[in-house]
Amino acid sequence: MPGELIPFIDLKRQYAALKDEIDAGIARVLDHGRYILGPEVAEMEGALAEYAGVRHCVSVGSGTDALLIGLMALDIGPGDEVILPAFTFAATAEVVILAGATPVLADIEPDTCNVDAEQVEALIGERTRAIMPVSLYGQTADMARLSGIAARRGLAVIEDAAQSFGALYGNRRSCGLSTIGCTSFFPSKPLGCYGDGGALFTDDDGLAQAFREIRVHGQSARYHHTRIGLGGRMDTLQCAVILAKLKRFEWEIERRLEIGSRYNRLFDEVGIERVRQRDGRTSVFAQYTILVDDRDSVRRRLEAAGIPTAVHYPAPLNEQPAYRDRCLAGALPHSRRAAERVLSLPMHPDLDEAQQDRIVAAVAQAAAGN
Ligand SMILES: *Cc1c(COP(=O)(O)O)cnc(C)c1O
Repeated sequence: MPGELIPFIDLKRQYAALKDEIDAGIARVLDHGRYILGPEVAEMEGALAEYAGVRHCVSVGSGTDALLIGLMALDIGPGDEVILPAFTFAATAEVVILAGATPVLADIEPDTCNVDAEQVEALIGERTRAIMPVSLYGQTADMARLSGIAARRGLAVIEDAAQSFGALYGNRRSCGLSTIGCTSFFPSKPLGCYGDGGALFTDDDGLAQAFREIRVHGQSARYHHTRIGLGGRMDTLQCAVILAKLKRFEWEIERRLEIGSRYNRLFDEVGIERVRQRDGRTSVFAQYTILVDDRDSVRRRLEAAGIPTAVHYPAPLNEQPAYRDRCLAGALPHSRRAAERVLSLPMHPDLDEAQQDRIVAAVAQAAAGN
């Protein structure tokens, strides 16, 4: 029974729900014409800083730009090492290499798929300057433990929160848990715009000033270049889209929590292994991810049933051609195993219960080999 195709992420329904606000926001920008660093940019930064509970939000061209600018502001470069999980999107390691430093890959916890703090501590050496935990699938790593380790060893913590904007760690928000928090507004992320965008968060006034200068070619005043920067601004139109989307964001986060916990309950009932959430943390489920053996055949069966899937990510970074010789790596058995078994399913705030039931039933069947 193939049934109707269920969208993996449903941005059309989101736009339909917010059409008036989004169209009006875009029209306002077209009217005033300040496409670069217009008033919506500062307005969005203020709203997001307040939401994340930090002093400063600085918007930039993408999540990747945010991570790179964070490293540049900390003056991390040649001779330095940055510890990050082997099991993440390539951008986390890419920016470290672009900055001229060396990524050191740590293994993950098998249940959360987030970086293992004990592994991180074991990899700290003379050259280590920072730890970059990734809040994978929408849940933060063990930030208290990582911050404790970093404080003892004099290291910075940069949270790659590209997938976790809106997630809670205790009563604090992702992006507000470390020296620097970086997120992405890529359309499919929990808070997405209609193109590329990203932001850095910090409580440190000096770092915030550095981010603002770096995103405009290192200028501290017009045509006065005091540092090496890049063209890394987020444009005003995209900030207007985010401002409109904030009207529904709390509702969306609630829906993500409800849908994620319902998936958890249903998969536990049918005995399907899944990425787990730790007590005291919420996930915003940028991805809802299960763990299956014989993943390729499960995917084929789900596709035939009208259920799209994705794999985040099919290989740990030390096995990617461009990264193999550019990273230092510890032992990575859990990253390897996760890369073989993870499977992400449709997940978005407008997913309804009937669709969810159909997905869970189809997964149970596919995993049983039918
Ligand atoms: C999406 C993502 C990024 C990069 O964000 P862009 O806005 O696409 O540049 C970085 N890290 C992780 C973990 C991501 O999921």
